[in-house]
Amino acid sequence: MKLYPLFADLAGRRVLVVGGGAVAERKAAALLEAGAAVTVGALSATGTLQAWADAGRLELRLGGFQQAWLDECWLVVAATGEPLLNRRIATLAERRRLFVNVVDDAQLCSFHVPAVIDRDPVTIAISSGGTAPVLARLLREGLESLLDPALGPLAALAARLRESIRARLPDLGARLRFYEQLFAGPVLQLLRRAQPAEAEAEAERALAGAATRSSGSVVLVGAGPGDPGLLTLRGLRALQEADVILYDRLAGAEVLALARRDAERIEVGKEAGNHHVTQERIHALLLEHAQAGRRVVRLKGGDPFVFGRGGEELERLRAHGIPYEVVPGITAAVACAAYAGVPLTHRDHAQSVRLLTAHCRGSNDSLDWPALARERQTLAVYMGVSELGTVQAQLLAHGRAPSTPFALVENGSRPQQRVVTGTLARLHELAVAHAVRAPALLILGEVAALASSLAWFGAPPIGECSEIDAPSVAVPALARRA
Ligand code: SAH
Repeated sequence: MKLYPLFADLAGRRVLVVGGGAVAERKAAALLEAGAAVTVGALSATGTLQAWADAGRLELRLGGFQQAWLDECWLVVAATGEPLLNRRIATLAERRRLFVNVVDDAQLCSFHVPAVIDRDPVTIAISSGGTAPVLARLLREGLESLLDPALGPLAALAARLRESIRARLPDLGARLRFYEQLFAGPVLQLLRRAQPAEAEAEAERALAGAATRSSGSVVLVGAGPGDPGLLTLRGLRALQEADVILYDRLAGAEVLALARRDAERIEVGKEAGNHHVTQERIHALLLEHAQAGRRVVRLKGGDPFVFGRGGEELERLRAHGIPYEVVPGITAAVACAAYAGVPLTHRDHAQSVRLLTAHCRGSNDSLDWPALARERQTLAVYMGVSELGTVQAQLLAHGRAPSTPFALVENGSRPQQRVVTGTLARLHELAVAHAVRAPALLILGEVAALASSLAWFGAPPIGECSEIDAPSVAVPALARRA
């Protein structure tokens, strides 16, 4: 069956719903919302249907089905729950050339009711031709989460401006370009930020200067630790709207693959100790592309504000009046902990967690080692692997117990993730023995011991004495994504 999609204007038009149960009530509700004049005919009706009838919102005819109910109707919905009666209604409707929807019987339907995504005034309808309503519903849910909630307000704004756009831009091409810019640019961003007045003002401004250049913008996007499933929906949206993407190597190829196909991709990655693009150069590139009117995404591993130098980039943009947004990402500490089965806090073992970096020259000297060496707290150390010796020596020197457990997570959340566990006394030695490489995150504290029993992702942790007392807990094969 090949269906012809159609959006019907039912305002003030009579529609008959036969049946008075919960399904009929749902159908009546949707029809009322579309402004239809609804008649419900049934032996008995739900309290809500009754209340709507009492309030004059619909007409309720109590009693057995009568052909006369079909008079003056434009559409019929049969929701009686009785197959024989439904069939009879369908036959009668067909004879009168009335479109009929029989609930749960695609064969008898001459019109289907689609799954709907409502971004009033934008409506998206999905049909599986009656073959798989569940699939249509799943699709609807997927799209629902992808589609910008600001879409509705945007379409409404466009409708308000329509006349003046037409008047000021009589040329169709110019109008199309303007709409494109309106739907993808800063106006949408302002609506997303729930600033409708500013959005309207920006749209007016854009219209006034439509002939002149459009303004660019920058979105700082946190890509998460590598597993593309950990990118946020908002981050995905930004990637799909980007003209240019400046990305770090840490951001991960799989995340980058989700970006708009024809977006220009520029790697500005930094490897520890091997800065091939300076921060100054990154600032210059951001400005250059934004000032050329492009939508720039600055894609960073993890979260842009956690050891990501995102703040410095924003300061530069602010100084040059470039509009920007920040989309947070899942930072390495949070992701590595989750994917290694190490809760960062625990009622019995750790009441606080500290994120610190032992990355750059000099940072080791300025850290407050006595505070970091205290018990019952978790340290999440972002670092170059080469710093592990210093971290170990400093913590021991300031009194952290040599028996404090650690979990060293290499390539957290990625298919090749490795977790090395042990105690502080042998941290450096074990990292060297297992040749741990960047990117790796150190989780140190009592909670790290839980990795051996709570791990669920990838290969089981490599323990200090795994042959003797480690993995006692069997993890079902299905829970692993080796
Ligand atoms: N902004 C990033 C951190 C950048 S600093 C964030 O929020 O995660 C870089 C350090 O992050 C690396 O040296 C490493 O310690 C850590 N890191 C980032 N991704 C990681 C991953 N997938 N696995 C382990 N560590 C990671």
